[in-house]
Amino acid sequence: MALKDAESDVDNAITREGKRGMSYENAFGGILSFMRRNYTKNLAGVDLAVTGIPFDQAVTNRPGSRFGPRAIREASTLQPCDAPFGWDINPLLDFDIVDYGDLAFDYANVAAFPKRLTDHIRGILEHGSGVLSFGGDHYVTFPILRAFVEKFGPIALVHFDAHSDTWPDDDMERIDHGTMFYKALKEELIIPDKSVQIGIRTHNDFNAGVHVIAAPQVHSQTPSMTASQIKDIVGNHPVYLTFDIDCLDPAFAPGTGTPVWGGLSSAQAAGILRELSGINLVGADVVEVSPQYDVSGATAIAGAHAAMELTCLYCTNLRAQRENKKNVN
Ligand code: MN
Ligand code: MN
Repeated sequence: MALKDAESDVDNAITREGKRGMSYENAFGGILSFMRRNYTKNLAGVDLAVTGIPFDQAVTNRPGSRFGPRAIREASTLQPCDAPFGWDINPLLDFDIVDYGDLAFDYANVAAFPKRLTDHIRGILEHGSGVLSFGGDHYVTFPILRAFVEKFGPIALVHFDAHSDTWPDDDMERIDHGTMFYKALKEELIIPDKSVQIGIRTHNDFNAGVHVIAAPQVHSQTPSMTASQIKDIVGNHPVYLTFDIDCLDPAFAPGTGTPVWGGLSSAQAAGILRELSGINLVGADVVEVSPQYDVSGATAIAGAHAAMELTCLYCTNLRAQRENKKNVN
């Protein structure tokens, strides 16, 4: 890279003029932001805001996903010098994406956390921006869903995970990353027959009524077959996609709190996510990245790649909606 670029392309998180553009900043230096986007609280005209939720006090086993957002931001610095692979869209050039920073919350007041997170997400959605969140443990998706359902109504959930997270728990005050989708179903945030879990490989006697494409089934078919099953289930309904990094096999994502063998490869996950292009994605998250259990950094890299695929899915849907609007007018 020419010296001139090396002089101008530094700390893009705060020096970028305008919201769009690639970044040629050294991957190993500079102030962190997701994909070297502007790190800002200004949401005027933003298409998609990325926000971190560094909360991990709902875990059943190993904590540490509070370090997830920072690790994903760092891992993402490897990507913004190229257009995303395998897409006909480049969100970094064609859409206004910002890093809105992390949720502020009192780590010692856990009971106050859910409402604080719902308010945070509602605040972003009210600006007309989409939201891509980084956990944190998987509990964070529950308060996030509440804000999305206020705006979009009951939602089709596309849920990548080793675990169903629908273990019965009728105490609505409990904050547990294994039971929040049971509660979300009970609150009717999720439409069961328009929702699907992918990569499951743990037992749960409770049948939530949502579709399941368990890990062995994913392994027995191609990624595009899995994607087309998901598309048939969600149809054109507004979709929220939640990507628990432990849907991946521990060989690909060891840095997580509750790993289970027999999971998806990163290639399978990438293939499925790309083939989901065309779904009506209104929001998404990547959760359960706990970088400290992974000296290689592969888990955070997988998280950053999943996040970029989700960004592409979101922007593809946004482009289609804007073109439809243009055709109607
Ligand atoms: Mn989960
Ligand atoms: Mn899980």
